[in-house]
Amino acid sequence: MKDINVPAYIGRAECGCVIAAVVDDGTDPEMVSKNVAEFVKDGLVVERQTVGYVREHWGCQHRDDRHNNGVKPTSMDAGQIQMF
Ligand SMILES: [Zn+2]
Repeated sequence: MKDINVPAYIGRAECGCVIAAVVDDGTDPEMVSKNVAEFVKDGLVVERQTVGYVREHWGCQHRDDRHNNGVKPTSMDAGQIQMF
């Protein structure tokens, strides 16, 4: 379990909800920039937040269920989300 103060980058959907995130704990900056680049490519608004923020704001109720409840498969594939 990551400390809530650990920085993380989030990707916001057009509705403002947090649907992508990657922990930036300094262990793998290359993986972090790769994920952030993916968020941008997906049209998300990237912000620097914390793990605690992600825990409280994760998810989106506005998107179609066909999109896996709005959770981006790319961010899940990165294996970082489980850390939250
Ligand atoms: Zn939403």
